Amino acid sequence: MNQKPIIGITPDYSYETKKYMLHEDYVTAIEKAGGCPILLTPHQPLPDFFDGILLSGGGDIDPLLFGEEPLLQSGEISPLRDAYEIRLCHEALAKNLPILGICRGMQVMNIAAGGSIYQDIGVQAGTSLKHSQQAPRSYGTHSIIMEENTLLFKLWNKKCTVVNSLHHQAVRQLGEGFVASAHSADGLTEAIEHQNNPFALGVQWHPEAMQTEEQSLLFAAFLQAAAAYKQNRR
Ligand code: MN
Repeated sequence: MNQKPIIGITPDYSYETKKYMLHEDYVTAIEKAGGCPILLTPHQPLPDFFDGILLSGGGDIDPLLFGEEPLLQSGEISPLRDAYEIRLCHEALAKNLPILGICRGMQVMNIAAGGSIYQDIGVQAGTSLKHSQQAPRSYGTHSIIMEENTLLFKLWNKKCTVVNSLHHQAVRQLGEGFVASAHSADGLTEAIEHQNNPFALGVQWHPEAMQTEEQSLLFAAFLQAAAAYKQNRR
């Protein structure tokens, strides 16, 4: 019998090809950390056997969902994916189910909690720091500074590290209950965490693609929270 914590992962969805898509790095990262990854699909309420939810990266989020008209720089959106991931966040946060949001996933968590994002950081945040790196996905290109007394700071026990960066949007107004746990040098939010949930963490970078020992600690902490949730569920 499978005793591993069961982690639901949300795939991307393309209206054009009618396909769900998920990079293998997400699956590998969960398996390496001791979890059993299962694909989450949009058309049902969350089954109760999950011990954690991973929101994967992907395209842009419909700006109407945070009360804005779309900018010219706004990219492709997937209404089906937006709707079910926001619903998943509500369900997960309501029952303290551990949740890890990566890149787009972090932005979805924030919007689900009533926050907003920059549709395009170049235009709206006026940053000149390069967040759309032209380097291998696994390679870190900009530094982040962790806030003390956050989950992230405790996890790594240091104030600064370097992460990869593959985004043109970012968290703007924080959602209810969330605090920023890391910033880039231009002041943009690079990680968020929920104050009441034992593990509701969003990161703007792609830890699954970096595949470093440091980033694997993040998945280990997620799985530890999932194992604790599984234990309490019995
Ligand atoms: Mn970045």
